[in-house]
Amino acid sequence: MKDSQQSLYIFGPCALESLEQITPVAAMMRRHGLSYIRTQLFKPRTNPDSFQGLGKDGVAILETLRKTYSKDELKFVCEACSTDQLETIAPWASVIQIGARNMQNFELLKAVGKHFSDQHDFVLLKRGFANTVEEWLESARYLIQGGVPKEKVVLCERGTRSVTSPTGVQLDFIAAMEAKKSGFKVIIDPSHGSKKAEFVIPLAKASLQLGLDGVMVECHPRPAESVSDAKQAISIEVTEEFIKTSL
Ligand code: PEP
Ligand code: MN
Repeated sequence: MKDSQQSLYIFGPCALESLEQITPVAAMMRRHGLSYIRTQLFKPRTNPDSFQGLGKDGVAILETLRKTYSKDELKFVCEACSTDQLETIAPWASVIQIGARNMQNFELLKAVGKHFSDQHDFVLLKRGFANTVEEWLESARYLIQGGVPKEKVVLCERGTRSVTSPTGVQLDFIAAMEAKKSGFKVIIDPSHGSKKAEFVIPLAKASLQLGLDGVMVECHPRPAESVSDAKQAISIEVTEEFIKTSL
Protein backbone atom coordinates (compact mmCIF):
# COMPACT_ATOMS: atom_id res chain seq x y z
CA MET A 1 0.00 0.00 0.00
CA LYS A 2 1.50 3.26 -1.10
CA ASP A 3 0.30 5.28 1.87
CA SER A 4 1.47 2.80 4.48
CA GLN A 5 4.89 4.30 3.77
CA GLN A 6 5.98 7.68 5.04
CA SER A 7 4.02 9.92 2.71
CA LEU A 8 0.33 10.75 3.00
CA TYR A 9 -1.88 10.96 -0.04
CA ILE A 10 -5.45 12.13 0.29
CA PHE A 11 -7.84 12.29 -2.66
CA GLY A 12 -11.52 12.94 -3.08
CA PRO A 13 -14.19 15.50 -3.73
CA CYS A 14 -14.50 18.89 -2.08
CA ALA A 15 -17.69 17.68 -0.41
CA LEU A 16 -19.41 14.34 -0.13
CA GLU A 17 -22.43 14.76 -2.41
CA SER A 18 -23.92 11.30 -3.00
CA LEU A 19 -23.11 7.60 -3.05
CA GLU A 20 -23.09 7.78 -6.82
CA GLN A 21 -20.45 10.55 -6.67
CA ILE A 22 -18.11 8.90 -4.15
CA THR A 23 -18.27 5.31 -5.47
CA PRO A 24 -15.90 5.84 -8.45
CA VAL A 25 -13.48 7.73 -6.21
CA ALA A 26 -13.42 4.84 -3.71
CA ALA A 27 -12.90 2.37 -6.55
CA MET A 28 -9.96 4.44 -7.82
CA MET A 29 -8.40 4.41 -4.36
CA ARG A 30 -8.72 0.62 -4.22
CA ARG A 31 -7.12 0.22 -7.65
CA HIS A 32 -4.01 2.01 -6.40
CA GLY A 33 -3.83 0.72 -2.82
CA LEU A 34 -4.54 4.19 -1.42
CA SER A 35 -6.81 4.67 1.56
CA TYR A 36 -7.30 8.30 2.63
CA ILE A 37 -10.44 9.61 0.95
CA ARG A 38 -12.05 13.03 1.39
CA THR A 39 -15.59 12.53 2.65
CA GLN A 40 -16.45 15.94 4.07
CA LEU A 41 -19.95 16.04 5.54
CA PHE A 42 -19.74 19.62 6.73
CA LYS A 43 -18.53 22.47 4.53
CA PRO A 44 -17.59 25.94 5.79
CA ARG A 45 -18.90 28.14 2.97
CA THR A 46 -18.41 31.85 2.44
CA ASN A 47 -21.88 32.22 0.94
CA PRO A 48 -24.61 31.14 3.36
CA ASP A 49 -26.80 30.13 0.42
CA SER A 50 -24.20 27.68 -0.94
CA PHE A 51 -24.33 23.93 -0.29
CA GLN A 52 -23.32 23.43 3.33
CA GLY A 53 -22.58 19.71 3.03
CA LEU A 54 -24.88 16.74 3.57
CA GLY A 55 -24.34 17.02 7.31
CA LYS A 56 -25.57 14.09 9.37
CA ASP A 57 -27.45 12.71 6.35
CA GLY A 58 -24.07 11.89 4.83
CA VAL A 59 -23.38 9.30 7.53
CA ALA A 60 -25.64 6.85 5.69
CA ILE A 61 -23.26 7.05 2.70
CA LEU A 62 -20.25 6.33 4.91
CA GLU A 63 -22.15 3.39 6.36
CA THR A 64 -22.77 2.04 2.86
CA LEU A 65 -19.11 2.43 1.89
CA ARG A 66 -18.15 0.50 5.02
CA LYS A 67 -20.05 -2.53 3.72
CA THR A 68 -17.64 -2.72 0.77
CA TYR A 69 -14.43 -1.30 2.24
CA SER A 70 -12.92 -2.15 5.63
CA LYS A 71 -11.62 0.53 8.00
CA ASP A 72 -8.08 -0.29 6.93
CA GLU A 73 -8.77 -0.16 3.25
CA LEU A 74 -10.71 3.09 3.09
CA LYS A 75 -10.09 5.80 5.64
CA PHE A 76 -12.43 8.77 5.83
CA VAL A 77 -11.06 12.30 6.08
CA CYS A 78 -13.73 14.58 7.57
CA GLU A 79 -13.67 18.21 8.61
CA ALA A 80 -15.29 19.48 11.79
CA CYS A 81 -16.07 23.18 12.19
CA SER A 82 -17.70 22.91 15.63
CA THR A 83 -17.79 20.59 18.61
CA ASP A 84 -21.21 19.34 17.50
CA GLN A 85 -19.78 18.39 14.13
CA LEU A 86 -16.84 16.70 15.88
CA GLU A 87 -19.28 14.44 17.68
CA THR A 88 -20.84 13.41 14.37
CA ILE A 89 -17.61 12.73 12.50
CA ALA A 90 -15.42 11.29 15.27
CA PRO A 91 -16.85 7.74 15.10
CA TRP A 92 -16.40 7.63 11.31
CA ALA A 93 -13.27 9.58 10.54
CA SER A 94 -9.75 8.20 10.48
CA VAL A 95 -8.52 11.74 9.96
CA ILE A 96 -10.08 14.73 11.72
CA GLN A 97 -9.57 17.81 9.58
CA ILE A 98 -9.47 21.31 11.03
CA GLY A 99 -9.88 23.73 8.17
CA ALA A 100 -8.18 27.02 7.45
CA ARG A 101 -11.04 29.07 8.90
CA ASN A 102 -10.82 27.25 12.20
CA MET A 103 -7.07 27.11 12.67
CA GLN A 104 -7.43 29.55 15.54
CA ASN A 105 -10.73 28.26 16.90
CA PHE A 106 -8.98 27.38 20.14
CA GLU A 107 -12.00 25.81 21.86
CA LEU A 108 -12.46 23.53 18.86
CA LEU A 109 -8.76 22.59 18.96
CA LYS A 110 -9.11 21.70 22.65
CA ALA A 111 -12.21 19.64 21.91
CA VAL A 112 -10.36 17.63 19.24
CA GLY A 113 -8.10 16.27 21.96
CA LYS A 114 -11.16 15.00 23.84
CA HIS A 115 -12.51 13.15 20.78
CA PHE A 116 -9.19 11.83 19.50
CA SER A 117 -8.71 8.10 20.04
CA ASP A 118 -6.75 5.10 18.77
CA GLN A 119 -9.17 4.78 15.86
CA HIS A 120 -7.87 8.08 14.48
CA ASP A 121 -4.70 8.08 12.42
CA PHE A 122 -4.05 11.80 12.69
CA VAL A 123 -5.45 15.31 12.89
CA LEU A 124 -4.96 17.42 9.78
CA LEU A 125 -4.45 21.06 10.72
CA LYS A 126 -4.66 23.43 7.78
CA ARG A 127 -2.98 26.81 7.90
CA GLY A 128 -5.32 29.78 7.97
CA PHE A 129 -5.01 31.85 4.81
CA ALA A 130 -3.68 34.84 6.72
CA ASN A 131 -1.81 33.10 9.50
CA THR A 132 1.91 32.95 10.16
CA VAL A 133 3.90 29.76 10.58
CA GLU A 134 4.35 30.67 14.23
CA GLU A 135 0.59 30.89 14.77
CA TRP A 136 0.14 27.59 12.94
CA LEU A 137 2.60 25.87 15.25
CA GLU A 138 0.93 27.37 18.33
CA SER A 139 -2.38 25.95 17.14
CA ALA A 140 -0.71 22.57 16.75
CA ARG A 141 0.35 22.90 20.39
CA TYR A 142 -3.30 23.30 21.39
CA LEU A 143 -3.98 19.90 19.83
CA ILE A 144 -1.01 18.34 21.58
CA GLN A 145 -1.88 19.86 24.97
CA GLY A 146 -5.42 18.60 24.44
CA GLY A 147 -4.11 15.05 24.17
CA VAL A 148 -3.26 14.41 20.51
CA PRO A 149 0.23 12.85 20.28
CA LYS A 150 2.62 15.12 18.39
CA GLU A 151 3.31 12.50 15.72
CA LYS A 152 -0.43 12.41 15.05
CA VAL A 153 -0.63 16.07 14.17
CA VAL A 154 -0.11 16.65 10.45
CA LEU A 155 0.03 20.18 9.05
CA CYS A 156 -1.44 21.14 5.69
CA GLU A 157 -0.41 24.21 3.70
CA ARG A 158 -3.32 25.43 1.55
CA GLY A 159 -2.10 28.81 0.38
CA THR A 160 -2.55 32.34 1.58
CA ARG A 161 -4.71 35.16 0.32
CA SER A 162 -2.87 37.09 -2.38
CA VAL A 163 -3.56 40.42 -4.03
CA THR A 164 -1.13 39.67 -6.85
CA SER A 165 -1.92 36.07 -7.79
CA PRO A 166 -4.46 35.86 -10.64
CA THR A 167 -6.40 33.25 -8.68
CA GLY A 168 -6.37 35.22 -5.42
CA VAL A 169 -4.40 32.59 -3.57
CA GLN A 170 -0.72 31.77 -3.33
CA LEU A 171 0.66 28.42 -2.24
CA ASP A 172 3.48 29.05 0.20
CA PHE A 173 6.11 26.33 -0.04
CA ILE A 174 8.49 28.29 2.16
CA ALA A 175 5.96 28.28 5.00
CA ALA A 176 5.54 24.52 4.55
CA MET A 177 9.27 23.86 4.59
CA GLU A 178 9.75 26.12 7.60
CA ALA A 179 6.96 24.35 9.52
CA LYS A 180 8.49 20.97 8.72
CA LYS A 181 11.61 21.95 10.65
CA SER A 182 9.52 21.72 13.85
CA GLY A 183 9.22 17.97 13.40
CA PHE A 184 5.64 17.85 12.08
CA LYS A 185 4.71 16.14 8.86
CA VAL A 186 3.59 18.79 6.40
CA ILE A 187 1.45 18.06 3.37
CA ILE A 188 0.27 20.38 0.59
CA ASP A 189 -3.23 21.10 -0.69
CA PRO A 190 -2.62 22.28 -4.26
CA SER A 191 -6.37 22.45 -4.95
CA HIS A 192 -7.33 25.23 -2.53
CA GLY A 193 -3.74 26.43 -2.93
CA SER A 194 -4.29 27.31 -6.59
CA LYS A 195 -8.08 27.35 -7.04
CA LYS A 196 -7.55 26.24 -10.66
CA ALA A 197 -7.59 22.67 -11.94
CA GLU A 198 -4.78 23.14 -14.48
CA PHE A 199 -2.29 24.01 -11.73
CA VAL A 200 -3.17 21.24 -9.30
CA ILE A 201 -0.98 18.42 -10.63
CA PRO A 202 2.11 20.57 -11.36
CA LEU A 203 1.95 21.91 -7.79
CA ALA A 204 1.36 18.43 -6.36
CA LYS A 205 4.46 17.20 -8.19
CA ALA A 206 6.47 20.18 -6.96
CA SER A 207 5.40 19.42 -3.37
CA LEU A 208 6.78 15.90 -3.62
CA GLN A 209 9.96 17.14 -5.29
CA LEU A 210 10.50 19.49 -2.36
CA GLY A 211 10.46 16.57 0.05
CA LEU A 212 7.16 17.51 1.68
CA ASP A 213 5.17 14.70 3.23
CA GLY A 214 2.29 14.30 0.83
CA VAL A 215 -0.63 15.99 -0.84
CA MET A 216 -4.37 16.38 -0.51
CA VAL A 217 -6.04 16.76 -3.91
CA GLU A 218 -9.67 17.42 -4.79
CA CYS A 219 -11.02 15.20 -7.55
CA HIS A 220 -14.50 14.40 -8.80
CA PRO A 221 -15.99 11.91 -11.29
CA ARG A 222 -17.51 14.85 -13.18
CA PRO A 223 -15.45 17.91 -12.19
CA ALA A 224 -17.66 20.48 -13.92
CA GLU A 225 -20.65 19.23 -11.91
CA SER A 226 -18.88 19.47 -8.56
CA VAL A 227 -21.31 21.19 -6.20
CA SER A 228 -18.46 23.11 -4.57
CA ASP A 229 -15.05 24.21 -5.86
CA ALA A 230 -15.73 22.97 -9.40
CA LYS A 231 -12.99 25.16 -10.91
CA GLN A 232 -10.26 23.39 -8.98
CA ALA A 233 -11.66 19.85 -9.29
CA ILE A 234 -9.70 17.41 -11.44
CA SER A 235 -11.05 14.24 -13.01
CA ILE A 236 -10.44 10.71 -11.84
CA GLU A 237 -8.48 10.04 -15.03
CA VAL A 238 -6.09 12.95 -14.39
CA THR A 239 -5.75 11.89 -10.75
CA GLU A 240 -4.88 8.34 -11.75
CA GLU A 241 -2.26 9.52 -14.20
CA PHE A 242 -0.60 11.47 -11.36
CA ILE A 243 -0.78 8.48 -9.04
CA LYS A 244 0.74 6.16 -11.63
CA THR A 245 3.54 8.47 -12.65
CA SER A 246 4.43 10.30 -9.45
CA LEU A 247 3.66 8.31 -6.30
C1 PEP B 1 -11.23 21.68 2.59
O1 PEP B 1 -10.11 21.15 2.47
O2 PEP B 1 -12.27 21.01 2.51
C2 PEP B 1 -11.33 23.12 2.87
C3 PEP B 1 -12.50 23.68 3.17
O3 PEP B 1 -10.19 23.79 2.76
P1 PEP B 1 -9.67 25.09 3.54
O4 PEP B 1 -10.07 24.92 4.98
O5 PEP B 1 -8.20 25.05 3.34
O6 PEP B 1 -10.33 26.26 2.88
MN1 MN C 1 -12.93 22.54 -1.59
